[in-house]
Amino acid sequence: MIDMHSHFFPALTRAEAHAANADRAPWLAIRPDAVNGEIMVGERAFRPVYRALWDPEYRVAELDQQGVETQIVCATPVMFGYGWEAGKAAGWAARMNDLAVDFCARHPTRLKPLSQVPLQDLKRACAEVSRAQAAGCVGVQIGNHLGDKDLDDEQLVDFLIHCAEQSIPVLVHPWDMMGGQRMKKWMLPWLVAMAAETQLGMLSLILSGAMERIPESLKICFAHGGGSFAFLLGRADNAWKHRDIVRKDCPRPPSEYARRFHVDGIVFEPGALRLLVDVMGHDRVMLGSDYPFPLGEQSIGSLVRGADFLSPAQQQAILRGNAASFFNLEHLP
Ligand SMILES: [Zn+2]
Repeated sequence: MIDMHSHFFPALTRAEAHAANADRAPWLAIRPDAVNGEIMVGERAFRPVYRALWDPEYRVAELDQQGVETQIVCATPVMFGYGWEAGKAAGWAARMNDLAVDFCARHPTRLKPLSQVPLQDLKRACAEVSRAQAAGCVGVQIGNHLGDKDLDDEQLVDFLIHCAEQSIPVLVHPWDMMGGQRMKKWMLPWLVAMAAETQLGMLSLILSGAMERIPESLKICFAHGGGSFAFLLGRADNAWKHRDIVRKDCPRPPSEYARRFHVDGIVFEPGALRLLVDVMGHDRVMLGSDYPFPLGEQSIGSLVRGADFLSPAQQQAILRGNAASFFNLEHLP
């Protein structure tokens, strides 16, 4: 299996984070048991985590148990730094990317890193994504928005065009979720807003006409099954047919662009996976776990392996082949 959606966070000290950006850079507080820890932002506890997040040996031992041959590893979105001054964010992204490459280097066939970029500065983002790719990253992860700018923003589209021209695969991950105080409880930002953020990113690319400008060669994957996108694609098509303001910038029905996107398959429920494969195509869905976080798939690949509506060849494509092709990993054992 190739698991194409997992996160890491380096063992950053408070001092290093403080030097990078006092009060805004995240760091890791590891408890005396060396297994549990907390991601901190300034003095605020952001998220409880455990050792697989920062220790590659510990992680690979767990992947052995799970039967995962290769895992794509990307930053925890709190590491993005998109709201920082661009020069600071560029230095930080380069440091995080070097740490991601180091994290994976001891198990080069088991762990493969994605880079992060200072997305608020197009020139610096393009330079860093190319540098990180040359240093060993197999793609780049970006957030689905930059403050008030969605993926149709000219600067973000230009970044995606750069990735297409350089053959760098892109994973879009939701972050900094909408809804504010209305979603403060019960993990609603994860349960409601994340799915909507992802759908917003995909529809922004489609309805703005950006997909007409972006080369067909762009490999772009959206996390969490594309959020609400697949389930509500018919709604978008209906709106496109019946309202000229929806058609204004988009020459073709939204569903005609669905084949340009990949998604991971973290949807937890067989009926949802069936719909996802029906809408996106079995060659566009890739195994992803969101490991090592508690909202990820705890037994990696079990949903796909148990999906009797998929042929063995389709299961194999989702569990491994599609990601091998997407990230150019066909040579791996
Ligand atoms: Zn994730």
